[in-house]
Amino acid sequence: MDFAYSAKVQDLRERVTAFMEAYVYPAESVFEQQVAEGDRWQPTQVMEDLKVRAKAEGLWNLFLPESEYGAGLTNMEYAPLAEIMGRSLIGAEPFNCSAPDTGNMETIVRYGSEEQKRTWLEPLLSGEIRSAFAMTEPGVASSDATNMQANAVRDGDEWVINGRKWWTSGACDPRCKIMIFMGLTNPDAPRHQQHSMILVPTDTPGVKILRPLPVFGYDDAPHGHAEVLFENVRVPYENVLLGEGRGFEIAQGRLGPGRIHHCMRSIGMAERALELMCKRAVSRTAFGKPLARLGGNIDHIANSRIEINQARLLTLNAAYMMDTVGNKIAQSEIAQIKVVAPNVALQVIDRAIQMHGGAGVSNDFPLAYWYAMQRTLRLADGPDEVHRAAIGKFEIGKYVPKEMLRSGR
Ligand SMILES: Cc1cc2nc3c(=O)[nH]c(=O)nc-3n(C[C@H](O)[C@H](O)[C@H](O)COP(=O)(O)OP(=O)(O)OC[C@H]3O[C@@H](n4cnc5c(N)ncnc54)[C@H](O)[C@@H]3O)c2cc1C
Repeated sequence: MDFAYSAKVQDLRERVTAFMEAYVYPAESVFEQQVAEGDRWQPTQVMEDLKVRAKAEGLWNLFLPESEYGAGLTNMEYAPLAEIMGRSLIGAEPFNCSAPDTGNMETIVRYGSEEQKRTWLEPLLSGEIRSAFAMTEPGVASSDATNMQANAVRDGDEWVINGRKWWTSGACDPRCKIMIFMGLTNPDAPRHQQHSMILVPTDTPGVKILRPLPVFGYDDAPHGHAEVLFENVRVPYENVLLGEGRGFEIAQGRLGPGRIHHCMRSIGMAERALELMCKRAVSRTAFGKPLARLGGNIDHIANSRIEINQARLLTLNAAYMMDTVGNKIAQSEIAQIKVVAPNVALQVIDRAIQMHGGAGVSNDFPLAYWYAMQRTLRLADGPDEVHRAAIGKFEIGKYVPKEMLRSGR
């Protein structure tokens, strides 16, 4: 595979970098201040201004591959741009490239009807509204998505939805107008054909946002991660995506690209943490020497560089596979980067925290918040162990008959 950036990608990298330096990094403290003042759960002016500016510069919807709706970049081409955006916690939204909207938009592009595209995709693409993905439930082990119990029962030409979801990211934001609900619709069907994805407008009667769940004490306002109750929620039957019982089929298509976006953003964050670590190491002195010359600190810096480069190459390899052989065949590679990227980012951020001493765990530096955020990624798109299980199964699958793997023997 060829790792060189094409002229088109190089141009976009330069433009996204220039935008981040000119507008996004300076906006970080303003964003924090605007969230802290007044109602934390209202969108900030500074973010809305960034969006207008990025859109005007043509740096908009860069994530959508092979689509008339977006920039038409491949995963390989988008990956380096996602890395640059990931350098800031507020780096993706200005370009309308943030989760979970990217995955949700891709889902509607691929599986939505023309009417659904008109109603939901268009305002999402223009950045007027946001969206959420409601799968995980407090009552069941949700790393196994076949466990989902919240249900949708057909009543004439409507679905009646009941159940409790949590960790529905983005649902606390008043701009969140649409959720993709995944629930049980066909309990008697084979295991992977029992669940469906259904579009549920957030203002439908019976949808109750119960509370935002904090992550290590951070509420991620105004985005937030909500616990949501669905109580006799009625939506039209045609809100089902792709068809009844086809939720897992969609999940396969949806999760590939979304994963790679998270991974590249993690690598961007790790790069910025390494930068902070190096600056601190050369600018502060203890025992008569710069921190960089004490103990094993230089090794920490070297190991961080090695691990980040390894993670980037692994992610680009997965992107290349997705582009050339498809998400299904690239399953193991996608799972590999899912394990590697947040773990590498966590290691690097942890070392950067240590190099900063007490300042590292304070709010004067972004490292503590970054650490909390990266830690969630070892769970948020499925726990590490689930990805390891998939990788391991793929490897041993080369040596045992398929029936044996399926039966779990
Ligand atoms: C910040 C954040 C944002 C999130 N955003 C969303 C969202 O927008 N929408 C949404 O639907 N969900 C979201 N989630 C939920 C996330 O997808 C789930 O937490 C995750 O899938 C795990 O499910 P669970 O919490 O029920 O853990 P469980 O399924 O109870 O698993 C607990 C633990 O069991 C172990 N385990 C599970 N399976 C295996 C295995 N095969 N082998 C070995 N050990 C195993 C792992 O250690 C795992 O961590 C988010 C989570 C977080 C923290």
